[in-house]
Amino acid sequence: MKIGTPKEIFDGEARVAMTPDSALQLQKLGYDCAIESGAGAAAGFSDALYEAAGVEVVKTAADLWATADIIAKVRQPDANELEHLTDAKTLISFFNPAANTEGMDAAKAKGANVIAMEMVPRISRAQKMDALSSMANIAGYRAVIEAGNNFGRFFTGQITAAGKVPPAKVLVVGAGVAGLAAIGTSTSLGAITLAFDVRPEVAEQVESMGAEFVYLDFEEEQQDGAATGGYASVSSPEFREAQLAKFRELAPEVDIVITTALIPNREAPELWTADMVAAMKPGSVIIDLAAEKGGNCKLTVMDEKIVTENGVTIVGYTDFPSRMAAQASSLYSTNIRHMMTDLTPEKDGQINHDMEDDVIRGATVTHKGEITFPPPPPKVA
Ligand code: NAD
Repeated sequence: MKIGTPKEIFDGEARVAMTPDSALQLQKLGYDCAIESGAGAAAGFSDALYEAAGVEVVKTAADLWATADIIAKVRQPDANELEHLTDAKTLISFFNPAANTEGMDAAKAKGANVIAMEMVPRISRAQKMDALSSMANIAGYRAVIEAGNNFGRFFTGQITAAGKVPPAKVLVVGAGVAGLAAIGTSTSLGAITLAFDVRPEVAEQVESMGAEFVYLDFEEEQQDGAATGGYASVSSPEFREAQLAKFRELAPEVDIVITTALIPNREAPELWTADMVAAMKPGSVIIDLAAEKGGNCKLTVMDEKIVTENGVTIVGYTDFPSRMAAQASSLYSTNIRHMMTDLTPEKDGQINHDMEDDVIRGATVTHKGEITFPPPPPKVA
């Protein structure tokens, strides 16, 4: 069978779902590989590099979609792309099944099998295919780089002949995958790093990375914003008040705030209010990684960078992984390659879409003309 990757058509998207390296691995599974000409260019992978890795370079998207049995891409396909699907094709991509009714209906009507990368169950065995985590890791890292780029000062403290420079103080709100990556990057650059999460079990992880966990003045057993299966749930009004009071206290002293707080299937909680922004020093920076879900900061404008009247820069970009397209493509294409390994137990270049396999079942959102989303809960952890 042939695996093909088209050029991403979403405006500004620079990632690509197959790299020359991942293609070599896919060929070891018995597959032929094809790429649309130019698909890897924005991530630094030329057609020549693909050719050297034994990948067929196809001139047009239409040819690519027509000739590939399996299509691997990054962004959820649009209506035109979905037109190319047939009952003989498998699509592996982010697909946003919960909100993409049209796409789900189109894939079902075509009889195509769709594997949605955001639906890979978050169990140990599937970590190597967990594209949400690999992209969140990049977003967290890049958030700190973006903050530094807008901050205009050192992260680390220095004593120089020209004067003493204090270290920057960074607050990371939300210590999931992206938050932990931001914490690691911030501490490694030498900033004093504080972090908060409603899940108190992450405190140890935060501290082991050299950051300080921010505790609230709140009875621990009442910290009910925490823990349902490793994810956060909505905080009680009392807990939220305690959290906001702590953030108000911190706002005048922190230089950089990186917010990553999310609750599954909800708008992002608003945690950094307008008065906190107003209390920050001029030159401070907020990077709101929750911008796509409405933002953790009241003043965030999605996909834009704004500067407030008191000189605080607020960045609401939603494309951090694409801004590191080479790294993001390497990791994402590796996630896809691992998915293909599980789909190809015989390494014979033939897909074995085993719906008894927890991971494959969990990620499959349409199969043989049926919608198979949402999946049953996974049996193993
Ligand atoms: P996420 O992106 O859904 O949320 C980011 C963080 O925001 C979470 O840590 C959450 O607790 C926090 N948050 C929510 N509301 C908050 C608030 N009001 N204030 C402060 N913080 C708030 O999370 P994620 O990065 O996807 O990770 C969620 C969980 O999934 C974690 O327990 C993580 O360890 C787990 N996980 C497991 C696997 C695996 O086993 N394969 C992979 C990835 C993540």
